[in-house]
Amino acid sequence: MEQIYVDKTASRGIAVAPVYLYQEPDLSPVGELVSEEQSAAELEKFNRARENVQKELEHLAQENEIFAAHLEIASDIVLKEGVEAKISGEKKNAQLALWETIEEFAAIFASMDDAYMKERGADVKDIGKRMMAELKGVKRPDLGRLETEVIVAARDLYPSDTVKLKSEFVKGIITEEGGVTSHVSIIAKSMNIPTLVGVRGILDKLTDGGTVCMDAENGVIVIEPDEAALAEYEEKKKACEKERAYLESLRSKPAVTKHGKRVFLCANVGNAEDIRHALAMNIDGVGLFRSELLYMDNTHFPTEEEQYQVYKEAAELIPQELTIRTLDIGGDKELPYFEFEKEENPFLGWRAIRISLDMKEMFKEQLRAILRASVYGHVRIMFPMIISLEELRDAKELVEECKRELDAEGISYDKNIETGMMIETPASVLLAEEFAKEADFFSIGTNDLTQYLLAVDRGNKKIAEKYDYFHPAVVRAIGKVIDAGHKENIKVGMCGEMAGDKKATPVLLELGLDEFSMSAGSIDYVRKQILGTGFF
Ligand code: PEP
Ligand code: MG
Repeated sequence: MEQIYVDKTASRGIAVAPVYLYQEPDLSPVGELVSEEQSAAELEKFNRARENVQKELEHLAQENEIFAAHLEIASDIVLKEGVEAKISGEKKNAQLALWETIEEFAAIFASMDDAYMKERGADVKDIGKRMMAELKGVKRPDLGRLETEVIVAARDLYPSDTVKLKSEFVKGIITEEGGVTSHVSIIAKSMNIPTLVGVRGILDKLTDGGTVCMDAENGVIVIEPDEAALAEYEEKKKACEKERAYLESLRSKPAVTKHGKRVFLCANVGNAEDIRHALAMNIDGVGLFRSELLYMDNTHFPTEEEQYQVYKEAAELIPQELTIRTLDIGGDKELPYFEFEKEENPFLGWRAIRISLDMKEMFKEQLRAILRASVYGHVRIMFPMIISLEELRDAKELVEECKRELDAEGISYDKNIETGMMIETPASVLLAEEFAKEADFFSIGTNDLTQYLLAVDRGNKKIAEKYDYFHPAVVRAIGKVIDAGHKENIKVGMCGEMAGDKKATPVLLELGLDEFSMSAGSIDYVRKQILGTGFF
């Protein structure tokens, strides 16, 4: 028996089952250079493989939106031209040309600091493997055929493997690679399959068919458990299922404290798929729609029309408030198609609203798209990283300018649309009373606020234990912002990670927070905390 501790829990739960070791067929390229005459045939082979994969993805996209994104990658003209250039120009065969191009694409994503974008590299590789399997005429093992209870262990799983899994048989997933925001993790979470990712070296320790216990609540794997461990895990599993059922039974209850204060439980989302997932938790709205993902997961600045379609779909999905945060890039969030000048201190540099106010035409495209979508639901606009009244006024003036343009064009929008701001800089805390007179709502971004108040880089592992949103300075700042908002009768929410931390719920309720917005996976736990809390 061996016990391993893991820190990346992608989907919670407890599982006990034999291991199914997932072995990928060899998809590495065979052959190298080709002659002038052969290259035309290689081009044809590549384009045939690409078309077959596109057809397959079109079919899959009807079942799961993730494959719509995959289809976009597979249809990407830069990818196609990249492979063709290697075949025609460098005389590589189709397999080698494809392999190298996919590696180059994936490396671009992998070099990004943003965790979400980093993991989009896995999607590119997934497409590459699909095309490679087509080119080589190899069948990948079909995980959809697993029909006995197992825990699937793999070096990595791709979204296309994961969607096929049948959750009544696949009791758990363990991968050596991948992160918690990878699409595999997102799918596993939506299928309620306990999943641990990034467990380096685990495949060398596991044997096919050997029993494993996994605790994806606390991040523990027990290999070849003895009788006592098996009994302990059976108990844990029962307790966990009971807790799950209990949490689900609470979903129908509005989030009201024992003292009768109604608070709003909202979700942080990046796309329509996230909203669908969060709706199952009975949310009161979306407190943060990260519009930057639409810009980051792209090959160009999304046009007004492209953005409008995305915001419209989101607004139609959720009748309650949909808070769209305007573009928040810079810092650690880069764009694959836009060169940022190197900065000494990117987190103190050209980011978020600073970029939007400097690139007014781009900003107006986003604002017009949001305004146009506002007739389909209850849309709110939120500006990130504000430090001065001047910035808030300039941003609001641009909203007014867009409204006037839409009026002139006869295009409708919600005339009462609210414009609020994130409180995530020390300046906005200190000026909260003034801001509250001009903003329609506040949302506290504790991720940045903590780093700026404590002068502790949010991404620096060396000082990670100093990054603490329970620090009295942060807690006091939150209290001050809530009081300032309430004095002017505006709603104060929070969309930083602290809002989804159930340990923070009592103190945030005590301070008077009105709205808690968090990733979907935390909602059940925070709701339970709110319902059981005697604070006001
Ligand atoms: C925050 O800063 O708390 C926040 C929600 O924004 P982000 O994490 O995207 O900077
Ligand atoms: Mg922030």
